[in-house]
Amino acid sequence: MAKDLLIGSHVGMNAPDYYLGSVKEALSYGSTAFMFYTGAPQNSYRKPLNELKIEEGRALLKEQGFDENHIVVHAPYIINPASKNRPDLLELTNKTLINELRRTAAFGAKMIVLHPGNHLGLGAEEAIKTLAENLDIVLSQDGTDVKIAIETMAGKGSEIGTCFEDVKTILDTCKHTDRLGVCLDTCHVHDAGYNVNNPDELLAEFDQIIGLNRLLVVHLNDSKNIRGAHKDRHENIGYGEIGFEALCKMANHPLLRNIPKILETPYINEKAPYSDEIRMLRDEKFIEGWKDKYLA
Ligand code: FE
Ligand code: FE
Ligand code: ZN
Repeated sequence: MAKDLLIGSHVGMNAPDYYLGSVKEALSYGSTAFMFYTGAPQNSYRKPLNELKIEEGRALLKEQGFDENHIVVHAPYIINPASKNRPDLLELTNKTLINELRRTAAFGAKMIVLHPGNHLGLGAEEAIKTLAENLDIVLSQDGTDVKIAIETMAGKGSEIGTCFEDVKTILDTCKHTDRLGVCLDTCHVHDAGYNVNNPDELLAEFDQIIGLNRLLVVHLNDSKNIRGAHKDRHENIGYGEIGFEALCKMANHPLLRNIPKILETPYINEKAPYSDEIRMLRDEKFIEGWKDKYLA
């Protein structure tokens, strides 16, 4: 049933309402899932938890019957857990990740999305080993049961985790593999060269190589660039190279019924497009020119 669709978007967390505001924002789009950063994505400074109106936000979720299993945190993207040749960065990365895992648990969320990092010239194989070592350090110290969802990457620069095989190797190399899963980003895998226009085949391949039981969250984005472009530039639903039909099929795919689908599509004229995108995906009906009213 379309009504059960687990879908939402990334939402902000700003003064004065912080998490209560994030929850209200998600509800205002008609979301049944959402994702947020526990602070600015580009740095590791974090406001103390007691200032973030977490209890108020969680109370509203409870009142609305919103399942916290469908809430996702995204780790800040300055960290790089795969960079062996940057020990300074690694220390900050591990400290930040441990802190983020604990913060995720404090919000009542069960998973955090992590970019696996960049090899910075050392090659993917070495980077994956470094990543797994660091994840083991982090996961033996954080004291939570929050799961890390390794995000599939577009292959920009020296990103690792750009094919299902490498993601599988990451999961297998880490000793705490039970605390790891995967975040499948449709824009990223399209940009990495996968054919998202055939969701059945894409999910079959994912299942064969990684296993669908390891999939924790889907990032549902259109892409500004052609398949295999390695660019990572998100586009609004139905306006990119993937297109509405395929993304709608993903959103409503029976194999993904229990997986939260999160939109990270761009704002239009500083306005969030998510109410419209969510409604179209839920109704399985594209509204030609839906973006026009934002541009007016
Ligand atoms: Fe991401
Ligand atoms: Fe993403
Ligand atoms: Zn991206």
